[in-house]
This record gives sequence, C-alpha cells and structure tokens, in this order.
Amino acid sequence: MCGIVGYIGTQVASDILIAGLEKLEYRGYDSAGLATIWEGNIHSVRAKGKLYNLREKLAQVEMPSSIGIGHTRWATHGKPEERNAHPHQDNQGRVAVVQNGIVENYRELREELKAKGYEFKSDTDTEVIPHLIADILIAKSSEKITFLDAVIKAVNRLDGAFAIAVLCADSPNELIVARQQAPLSIGLGQGEFFCASDTPALVPYTQAVLSLENGEIARLTHLGVEVYTFTGERLHKVPRILNWSPSLVEKHVFKHFMLKEIHEQPGVVRDCLQAYLNQDCELEAEQISKKLAQKSADQKQTSPINLSIPSSWYQDLEQIEILACGTSWHASLVGKYLLEQLAGIPTIVQYASEARYAPTPLRPHTLTIGVTQSGETADTLASLAMEQQRRINAPPQYAAKLLGITNRPESSLAQLVPHIIDTRAGIEIGVAATKTFVAQLIAFYLLALDMAWHRQTLPKSRLLEIIKDLRQLPTQMEQLLQD
Ligand code: GLU
Repeated sequence: MCGIVGYIGTQVASDILIAGLEKLEYRGYDSAGLATIWEGNIHSVRAKGKLYNLREKLAQVEMPSSIGIGHTRWATHGKPEERNAHPHQDNQGRVAVVQNGIVENYRELREELKAKGYEFKSDTDTEVIPHLIADILIAKSSEKITFLDAVIKAVNRLDGAFAIAVLCADSPNELIVARQQAPLSIGLGQGEFFCASDTPALVPYTQAVLSLENGEIARLTHLGVEVYTFTGERLHKVPRILNWSPSLVEKHVFKHFMLKEIHEQPGVVRDCLQAYLNQDCELEAEQISKKLAQKSADQKQTSPINLSIPSSWYQDLEQIEILACGTSWHASLVGKYLLEQLAGIPTIVQYASEARYAPTPLRPHTLTIGVTQSGETADTLASLAMEQQRRINAPPQYAAKLLGITNRPESSLAQLVPHIIDTRAGIEIGVAATKTFVAQLIAFYLLALDMAWHRQTLPKSRLLEIIKDLRQLPTQMEQLLQD
C-alpha cells in the first residue's frame, strides 16, 4: 500500500503534490518522488527515506508546472532505494508512472520488453508500465493513437491489484489514472482536478469526489474529468459530496495523528451509540424494564438498537463467519466472543487472506461478516466476493447473507454487500488503529445485542443493563485519558 497523488490545474503542482503526500505519508514512507511536465519535458525528483528528504531536494529545483504526479512508496519489489522510488519512466523520459500495488505478471512483461531493447533501471514491478505505454505509443504512432488509448491498452496487459497515475510529455495537458483493485479517488475543484489513493489528501481542496471502481480509467484535463472502462467505453459518474472539514486531517495540538485519534475515542463511541441506540435507551434501565413489563407479552417490541438490518436475517442463523485482516481481525476475535456469549450463535473468525485459498466447507444459514476499516482491504473483499459466488447456485438454506463493518460507507465493501454497519469514527491517519478499532468493538456490541434482542437469548433487563453500561463508556474513557 502506498500513497498516490496527482494534480492538474492552475497552481504550482509540486506544492499541491507535496501537501497531498504529507496527508498520505502513513501509507508508505521508504521513499518518495514526484514528476511534472515543464517546457515539454518530464522533470522528476525522487528521494530515499521520509518525505522531508524529498522536500529538501525540491527546495533546490524550480518546477513551475501546473500538472504532476507524486508517490510515497511502501516497497514490494526492490529495496527502498532512490532508483526504485516512483515515478518510473520509459527510456526516452516521455512517460512517467506512479503505482500502488503489485503487477503480478511483471516478470513476463519485463522479459518481453527487454527483448525489444528496453533497458530497466530499477528492480520494481512498476517499471514495466512506462516502458509498455511507450512501446504502444511508438508501435502505433502511425495510427495516431492517443495517450488515453495507449494507457488503456497497457492496463489490459497488467495482472494484479494496482492503481496508477501517468504523465506523458507529449500530452502535457492530460493526466491519466486507472484502478484495478486498489483505491483511487478523483477530486473535482474549480478548474483544477486532483487524484489520490485516499481521500484525506483531497479534503483540503475539495469536497466533491469521484471514486473509481475496478476496471475504470480516467482522463483529467484542465477542462474536466472523463471516465472510461478498460474496454474504452465512456461512463457517466456522479460525484459524491464529502462531509469532512479540512481540519479533520490536521494534527491540531497533538504531536502525532495517533495521539489525536486516541483522544477522539470517547467522542467516537458517544457518536456511535447516539446513532444506533433508540431514544428510549435514554431512560433508566429500570424504567424501561417496567415499561416493557406493562406491555403484553406477545406484543412486538422494537429493538433498542437500530442497525437497519432486517430482523429476518437473524432468525434461523446457525453460524456466523467473520472475514478480516490485521487489526480488524483482532476486533473480530472480540466480536466472536460477544456474538457467542450474548447472541448465542457459533462464530468463526477467518483471516481473509487464508480464507481466499482455504475456505471453510459451506454451512447452511450462515451470516458472513466482512470487517475492514477502509472498506478496501483486497483480501477481505476477495474472500467476501468468493463467499457470495460459491453460494449462488447452492440450495436456498445456503443463500449468502453478507454484512459489512466499515468506517467508509462509500467504500468498495459497501458496494459489495447489501448491509453495512458504519463505524462512524472519521478519518484515521495514524498507522496503528486506535479509534477505529474501538468503533469496531462498539459495532460488534450493538450487533450482538440487536441479535440477542430478536433471538431472545438474553433477558431484556440484562440487555438493557448492558446498554446502560455502554452509555457510561465515553465518560469513563475521558476520565482515563485525563488521568
Ligand atoms: N510494487 C511497487 C513497488 O514496489 C509499488 C509498491 C507500493 O504500493 O508502494 O515499488
């Protein structure tokens, strides 16, 4: 995972790119670089190590260009060295590429391009991309192939999960970006356009964002953004408006984002509880118990938790399967405990990257929950898609019921599953999950309690007591932080 940024507009591109990379430094920090087009040529500056090394180098050069791409690297192929830092260029220096992810078939492509005389200067998988685009542009030059068509042809030859941003010195007013299983969003400004692998880099400039989906490619010019499929078909996408203030991505009084986010935890829990607990829960548990006792036993009562998950989903459940990676996997282990102890449903937690290759045998009446903070974790998405696929032709009792727990309601996960629980923790920039982990635990609590209510696995008075205790949490957390 790395950070990609791109800019085309009227301001000095290198300033915008560096500011954007600062917001994405958490995504990769073993080297960084950027490229712009100026006076008909590509100018690139790269540096090993943290971003300030790149900033220092940039202070010594002039780059008054208003188009560019930038990258903070998290190496997968090739050591963290300057020669492996992005952007990578073709041998003529006419095409520059930054990439997030892995080109799985880079060895074959490298051999093919080497045989044609292309010289490789890095050990990365990425370097095949600029050579490939240059090769297509040269081979088809008599047909007057466009820069966009050349990139479309090139991405169709790449296997793997990647997002790229590409510049071509011969098309100095175009920036091309493409997405295949690695996130990429486009920010729409007034006469200026941005791209980034994560929205924190866009928020200071615009709230209007277009998220590319897998197999989509976009052409950014001074006039606007055109989106196409990898087969070249034009798409009409509607941007969404973010509701994030630029101050969300500032550190404020805190030395680190992680510290800031730790201090945001009480607020996150409070907001989550407020969003998902019905008003009645403001009452004291005893009062509610009395109120409940007054109602006739067979009368249907609404759950005190409002997750908008159809209660029919809970009724005949025999098993819950959770798919997650990393910190979300750890939160899911707590989730298993809650789901089993409160809702009484046998639960298994699978590491999504393992489940993709070693799925558990199909069981009927299973709820599958995918947990990913970003909603973009490739293994979690792939294992959920696989689960959906293998249940399509199975008998009805095996039908897929997919639920997502994520902090990004606009993410790929939210598009993949019919229901999500939005953990509402706000942007998390710290590498170690803090507030989003806590928010996932709250989501599991609420889910387990909602199930317990509908399945009647807990006495209502006990359930309401737990809710009352949960409501104490934010104040207790504040006290702890204060101490
Ligand atoms: N695979 C590329 C490399 O090793 C990109 C890694 C990244 O996503 O930062 O350079």
